[in-house]
Amino acid sequence: MGRKRRRSTPPPRRRGQQLPDAPPRPRAARRSVTSATLIFVGAGALAAAAWWLWSPGTAPASGALRDSNLLLITIDTLRADRVGAPGLTPTLDALGESGLQFTHVYAHAPVTLPSHSSIMTGLVPPGHGVRDNGSFRLSEAHVTLAERLGAAGYDTGAFIGAFVLDSRFGLAQGFAEYDDRFNEVARSFAANFVQRRAPDVLRRAADWIEAVDDSAGPQAGGSPWFAWAHLFDPHDPYDAPEQRVEDPYDNEVAFADAAIGRFLTRLRQAGALEETLIVVTSDHGEGLGDHGESTHSLFAYDATLRVPLIVSGPGISPGVRETPASHVDLLPTILDLLGLEVPEGLDGRSLRTNPEPDLPVPPIYFEALSASLTRNWAPLTGIVAEGWKLIDLPLPELYDLTADPAEATNLHDRQAGRAGEMRGVLQAVGERAAATASSVPVDPTVEAQLRALGYTSGRAGPIDPARVFTAADDPKRLLDVDLAWRAVLRRLATSLESPGGNAEGLSVLRQHLDAYPGFAPAYTSAATLLIEMGRPREAVDLLDTAVELGQANDAIRERLSLALLNAGEPGRTIEILETLVAVDAPWADDLNRLGAAYAALGRIDDARTQFARALELGPTAEIWKNLGVIDVQAGNVESAVRAFRESTGTDPTYVPGWRLLGAALRPTDPDGAVEAWRRAVDLSPGDVDALLDLTALLHETGSAGDARPYLERYLEAQPPDAARVVEVRRRLAELSAP
Ligand SMILES: [Zn+2]
Repeated sequence: MGRKRRRSTPPPRRRGQQLPDAPPRPRAARRSVTSATLIFVGAGALAAAAWWLWSPGTAPASGALRDSNLLLITIDTLRADRVGAPGLTPTLDALGESGLQFTHVYAHAPVTLPSHSSIMTGLVPPGHGVRDNGSFRLSEAHVTLAERLGAAGYDTGAFIGAFVLDSRFGLAQGFAEYDDRFNEVARSFAANFVQRRAPDVLRRAADWIEAVDDSAGPQAGGSPWFAWAHLFDPHDPYDAPEQRVEDPYDNEVAFADAAIGRFLTRLRQAGALEETLIVVTSDHGEGLGDHGESTHSLFAYDATLRVPLIVSGPGISPGVRETPASHVDLLPTILDLLGLEVPEGLDGRSLRTNPEPDLPVPPIYFEALSASLTRNWAPLTGIVAEGWKLIDLPLPELYDLTADPAEATNLHDRQAGRAGEMRGVLQAVGERAAATASSVPVDPTVEAQLRALGYTSGRAGPIDPARVFTAADDPKRLLDVDLAWRAVLRRLATSLESPGGNAEGLSVLRQHLDAYPGFAPAYTSAATLLIEMGRPREAVDLLDTAVELGQANDAIRERLSLALLNAGEPGRTIEILETLVAVDAPWADDLNRLGAAYAALGRIDDARTQFARALELGPTAEIWKNLGVIDVQAGNVESAVRAFRESTGTDPTYVPGWRLLGAALRPTDPDGAVEAWRRAVDLSPGDVDALLDLTALLHETGSAGDARPYLERYLEAQPPDAARVVEVRRRLAELSAP
């Protein structure tokens, strides 16, 4: 991060500045009243009056924090009821008491990536299209909060606590700095379990803020900043490094709160928070046994769906709002307070003022689709409206949240009329949001191709609309399977930390597959481990079995393409990948792999095209390395050297890049080759091939003695390969010979 930029011209997109605090508009024109609300009200049987209470307080003016900085903290997996619990969250309590606390805020999905996508776009998941972690990425077509603030002249930085929000999943758009330093491990299956602790994330965030913050304050003419910190600590496993309270989950919450406390103190002392809007929320809660759910993502009861929300800053007087709100309201609220234009077409509304009591609050859409998308279980969708919650499943549920906040008594059959009306609203909300999403034109050939292959296009909704789900597919009936899988994931997280952990992890997964042969995620996980263990043929067989069992989802196909490429079957690899990349937003990994498969068949031009597409999405060391390899194949060594240098420049820890750079330099620049291979050997001391290559090269360049420490270090590691040990000893003996 270099020196602070200064504005030479007035910032763009500050149209909000010209608008006075507008008087209430006629009801039909109010953005907060969606068409779905009108249908809902028109249905008539439901009370339109507000069912909540609030302490009116004074609403801040629109643009009350014009030109202020924005600090957004999302605490992963933080239950709404833990904020304010005695002694647990003193930092958040103090922050809440200084600003607005919202007591009835909902996420739209109890899943990290979809939930953050709603926060960042102001759209519900059917609108932004991100329905699960890992297999979805936020389309560039959406305009994020960071993009909107960046366009208004803000410095933008994000500091991420877990791989699930890695930049490849689309949330980096608009951030000048996106600190997700998980690259070192992202190539490994263990990456799924990687997190950074709150103090680490917040230290990086504070460093960045202090670097971009103008000590004279934003009013002095420097650009304001937007920093987003994502803390993953309360997510399982609950193993905070310090013991503050007894309960392990609560202890993570207390640990994160204390870290935020130190972070805010540091920034206040630096004078960096004086003109700053601070927003704190979580992406979802945690089951902790509620309705039998230990963690989150399977169900959508309030334990996982309700989230805390605090909005604090100069000009915001303290108050408690019990008006129902949701994550899609955050973006319009923030823009409204910062004096920026709130765009039309969002799913949320500004929470700056309380809605008038005679106006209904828009129904809140939610979904929990992870199990449906990855395991073929029944899709869960629902709405919260007028104090009731409908959960639309084969075994449907309806709860009176006011009388029964624990959601213990299912009133679905006793309140059939209400349930039917709410189902109508749910459908309308879903259709409206999907219409937003489908405004991107689709190539009809691609669409037909996908349909022929049994895909449903992401835009049309990820769940096959023709599929009929029965009570047997209801996640409530499948809770035991889910709990067993959670246990598997916990054991994997532990075993993969140890050196021989892949084999143990594989056996854990095989046991799960023996018990639940139709469980797709266990196939992809086991195949990934087999590939990492150098047994791609077995991975292919395993995934072929999954496909025969009817489990052919995108995740299975993607793993199959990787296994096939590793097993030396580029033809079948290409067949699968050509369909996987025929979408609006293909994955860089898929394009890169398709390029590699073309290259394996000698189709160099096709390979180059795919690598170039992959580079456009995000340069990685591996893509550059692959480009270098086809340059070598085409006999263009100079260009190959450039590509390998880009590879090692993109990721200086990427061993294949150094190895190939050395090989490409060897004929013309032996010293450069020695340097590259030294780097490779330093990074990977157990790689005996690299070691012997380096030794031979040192010998050729007349500095054979330099090889000695490398050879000795190899023997010290007590490698198991006896033949190699003999070879290394022989080289050492040669060096010692007169
Ligand atoms: Zn999460």
